[in-house]
Order: sequence, then C-alpha cells, then structure tokens
Amino acid sequence: MTPCDCCGSSDWNPLFVENGIQLGKCPHCDLHSIEHIPDADARMTEMEEGHYAGDLEVLDAESQMTMEKVMASMFQRYVDIAKPLVPGGTWLDIGCGAGLLIGLAQKAGYTGEGLELNAARREAAIKQTGVTVHSEPVELLKLPDDSYDVISLINVFSHLTSPTETLAELRRILKPGGVLVMATGEMTDGVQKSHVFNWNLGDHLYFLGDRTIDVYAKNLGYDVVEHRRAWLPDEMFSKEWLTVKGRSSAKNAIKTAVRITPGGLRLLRAVMLRRQADSKAHSGVFALRPSAG
Ligand SMILES: [Zn+2]
Repeated sequence: MTPCDCCGSSDWNPLFVENGIQLGKCPHCDLHSIEHIPDADARMTEMEEGHYAGDLEVLDAESQMTMEKVMASMFQRYVDIAKPLVPGGTWLDIGCGAGLLIGLAQKAGYTGEGLELNAARREAAIKQTGVTVHSEPVELLKLPDDSYDVISLINVFSHLTSPTETLAELRRILKPGGVLVMATGEMTDGVQKSHVFNWNLGDHLYFLGDRTIDVYAKNLGYDVVEHRRAWLPDEMFSKEWLTVKGRSSAKNAIKTAVRITPGGLRLLRAVMLRRQADSKAHSGVFALRPSAG
C-alpha cells in the first residue's frame, strides 16, 4: 500500500470492488483511492492513446468535439467561477480535450493556452482555438514560476498518478493572486458503489472525500476560496448527458433506448433519482488561490 497521496498516512479502509479493482479511503483526510496506483510511465502511455483502460471506447476527436459542444453550458460555469476572482490574463487548461473551455475563456477575454496528451484531441484543440497546446505532462514542461492567472483542471484530478505532485507544480506556475479552477468527483461520507452508475476504477484512480480538498490546500499552500458541490445524480441523466456519445458502450445503448422512447428521459430520471435518492456522490467544483506569503 502506497502512503496516502494527500496526507501521507498508511491507513486505508477498503470500501468496495469494481471490475476486480478495490476502492478504499484514507481515514485521516478522506481521499478515496484505488489499491494499486499505476506507475506514471504506464499511465502516460494510456493517456496519450486516449486514456483508458478496460473496455471503454476511446472517443475520436470528432465525437469529443460534439460532446464538448453539448457540454458548453456546464463548462461555462468554470469561466463564471474564475471571472470575479481573476477578471483577465492568461488561462491554461490542463487536459483541454478538443478545446471547448479554452474557447469559452477566450470569449471571456482571457488569453488561452492548453495541454492535451492525446494527439488527435490536441490537434482538434489547436484547430478550434489557434492557441498553444502543450503535449507533455505539466511537471515535465518546466514552465517559469508565476506564469498564469488562471489554471483549470476539469475532470483531470481522478486520472493523476500523484495529485500532490501536480497540484504543487500548478501552485508554482500560478501567479500570486491567480486561481486554480478544479472540478472532480467528491464522495461524501457513506458513499456506496450503487451511488455511481460506473466508477471506471482503474481509469479513475482518486476521488475527493469530505475533508480532502482542505487538507490538500493546507499542505500545498492554497486557500479554498470557492467550494461548490453538485449532486451527481442531478448532473447525470440530464438532457445534455443523454445526447452525447460517451465512452461506455453499455451507457450508449441505454441512452439510445431512452432517446427513442417517448418520455424516456423523464422516466429514467425519475427512476434513477429515486434509486439514488440517498446518493453521497457529488461533483465538486473548487477555486484555489495560492496562499499569501
Ligand atoms: Zn490521507
């Protein structure tokens, strides 16, 4: 058992197994992690190939772009969180996919820049936005200190082999007074396997828990200036979710069935929301600012 990425503890309580992979939780900082974190090099190859272990489909750049367009309203909220905190300047989006968020940031007056490990998506992002899109993990880029006003890390945290390493590096390249906008799964106390339709363990290595973001922030020199929790069942089963082709063929089949059934989405939402009424699964959205001094 590797020590907890967030607090360094060796205590770890198993929760449940999905696809033969055990998820557990640190009793001190609530970080949820899989039992065996893969090594960074092996992980890098997966990410370059479109990331992804198991039987998940890899979306081509075209499908990725369609998905992102449909998700535009969800992505706009990340710009809306940053704007009052840092009204302009440079914005680096890490794991930028086909460039949707960079485009929204540009529209809001920021100078965009991206980072995407998958070549096809990187090319799509460059074509869409015309900005520089880096091709290597941020830790290897050796960017100068105090480079960016805003950095975004949207649905990336779960895939990192060492969030501590990445978050420390982002702290270094953020300008004083800058902001890190982050979104990722946040599982509150009592979360169960049934609370998430598909955990994608193995692709997802980490989830935040109740106290985790505060411990990371304290250890790494950030202040949490914004912390919102969206209830995951609400985020899922939305019209947007239903319209886009995802990476799970099982989910895609369900989506098609629901789409062609009159009143299908309403019915699915009702069933799923009842089934998951006590869900402890959330999507956490955060703004972190380097602590002064
Ligand atoms: Zn811990």
